[in-house]
Amino acid sequence: MTAPLRRAGQTAAVDKGATESQAFSREGLLQRLSEPREWDLAIIGGGATGLGVALDAAVRGLSVVLLESDDFAQGTSSRATKLVHGGVRYLAQGNISLVHEALHERTRLLNNAPHAAQRLAFVVPAYKLYELPFYGTGLKGYDVLAGHHSLGPTELLSPRRTQQLLPTVRRQGLVGGIRYWDGQFDDARLAVLLARTALQRGALLLNHCPVIALRREDGKVRGLQARDAESGQTYDVRARCVVNAAGVWVDAVRDMDRDADAPPKPPMVAPSQGVHLVVDRAFLPGTDALMVPKTEDGRVLFAVPWLGKTILGTTDTPRQDLDREPMPFREEVDFILREAGRYLSKAPTRADVRSVWVGLRPLVKPPDDEGDNTKALSREHTVIVGRSGLVTVTGGKWTTYRAMAEDVLERCMVAALLPRRPGGVTVQLPLIGAAPGRPMCEPPGEHLYGSEADLLRSLPGAERWLWRDAESGRGGLSEAMVRFALRYELARGVEDVLARRSRLLFLDAAGAASVAEGVAELVQEELGRAVTAQQRQAFGELARRYRSLP
Ligand SMILES: Cc1cc2nc3c(=O)[nH]c(=O)nc-3n(C[C@H](O)[C@H](O)[C@H](O)COP(=O)(O)OP(=O)(O)OC[C@H]3O[C@@H](n4cnc5c(N)ncnc54)[C@H](O)[C@@H]3O)c2cc1C
Repeated sequence: MTAPLRRAGQTAAVDKGATESQAFSREGLLQRLSEPREWDLAIIGGGATGLGVALDAAVRGLSVVLLESDDFAQGTSSRATKLVHGGVRYLAQGNISLVHEALHERTRLLNNAPHAAQRLAFVVPAYKLYELPFYGTGLKGYDVLAGHHSLGPTELLSPRRTQQLLPTVRRQGLVGGIRYWDGQFDDARLAVLLARTALQRGALLLNHCPVIALRREDGKVRGLQARDAESGQTYDVRARCVVNAAGVWVDAVRDMDRDADAPPKPPMVAPSQGVHLVVDRAFLPGTDALMVPKTEDGRVLFAVPWLGKTILGTTDTPRQDLDREPMPFREEVDFILREAGRYLSKAPTRADVRSVWVGLRPLVKPPDDEGDNTKALSREHTVIVGRSGLVTVTGGKWTTYRAMAEDVLERCMVAALLPRRPGGVTVQLPLIGAAPGRPMCEPPGEHLYGSEADLLRSLPGAERWLWRDAESGRGGLSEAMVRFALRYELARGVEDVLARRSRLLFLDAAGAASVAEGVAELVQEELGRAVTAQQRQAFGELARRYRSLP
């Protein structure tokens, strides 16, 4: 294997010709964490919510530290349906203001990260005549609500045009369709772009660094304690304001905010899981997605072309535990395959599933014991400022992460936990590498790197493919992409590379398992530390989970 140009752990230099592409050394970041100082803001959790708050606060000139227990987006934020959307189903519920805000945010996201998010057409196939005016009117309304943020007109389709756009749609009984526009994105890559842009703006962000305790003084939260998962070393972090953005895991952090003899706080989150199955592109070979507004049991189902494959999903099943890698239930898999089979000419079977992944969404019941400062927003997300000053935020959706961040910071400022600074700073803030992109349905390739594609190409192994997308013969995972992940994208191990920088684990779990050894060698070479047998085995086990169905 070719020697690396430079090891990520050895320099913090800015690259020639790509001023925005910085390689941050973990040692340097940990060094900053150990400095005795007080930060304006400490954030717990590096998913969409925490990362959005970190970037916004950093751009406003606040000093910010964010700590993520695992990898950026390892929780729910890498397991979305990947839609940048206003939420058609909220429109059906009459929640106009929520949809309106999301439609505006949709445009901002597409503009600020065109290499990670693109517009996408959806077709609703109709098998009953009344469905055409019924869904057509609703989706026209969706477009009207978007106003000048519309991504394209809603159209009524003839049966022939519906078949052209969805070549594998079931033809029997088809009376036409409705086509409307939303967006789609690569959730985990967007998270890493947010983290890198926030770092560039002066924030300190660390993955693999769990928060293990809160610093409390006179009943007020004044910081936290974190542990570097790689070295085991603990760090005391003082901060004026602490934001708990731990997703479905917010209750564990809230529970750190109580006296040893006080009873546990009642939980505010009840988790519900959503399953996605990935099958070959051949099941949906066009460039449009298929949307079923009402399945047999009244749910919404999508079949979405994404990175050379087709995503089918999702479900909404309550569960009791908060597993980091929840498993799907058998009925959920059966439901998705059965419903997809009702709309596709060739029904996908269990044998066709290349990867299965599960995300947890928080169903929030705001506690009533948090005093006057408790405020459940009449929106999808909830922000609570506790008596101790701990700010907890959960719920919402990826599409509105930016607006949520503004809400969180506004609440912190109103509570005088942060100095007042004007907002709106991320409305037009291109993320690192922002450059015109290509449709997200194409197999993974250089286009996902935007203006950093030249830098990617300059790394060793740009033409050495570890994995190729067999269906299209294009794109895939190159050795240079792995090196890029380790040098520039803050990846720390095989899973970070194969699950969230490249999305191979999500696209083709067997493919991910087959390249894991090669990636482990590159991790060793680039980071200068061995990948242990235990770590290799752990990834093998994870890949097995992603390819086995109950
Ligand atoms: C099935 C499903 C499909 C979805 N599809 C879409 C979609 O298509 N479009 C859309 O806009 N939205 C979608 N969403 C919603 C969206 O994914 C979520 O709103 C968003 O990802 C939540 O981000 P978060 O940061 O709040 O949570 P998370 O991403 O879970 O982040 C919380 C982070 O906190 C970390 N953490 C926990 N405890 C600690 C600790 N002690 N110390 C440090 N870190 C800690 C976790 O490791 C985790 O990374 C979907 C959600 C689900 C469940």
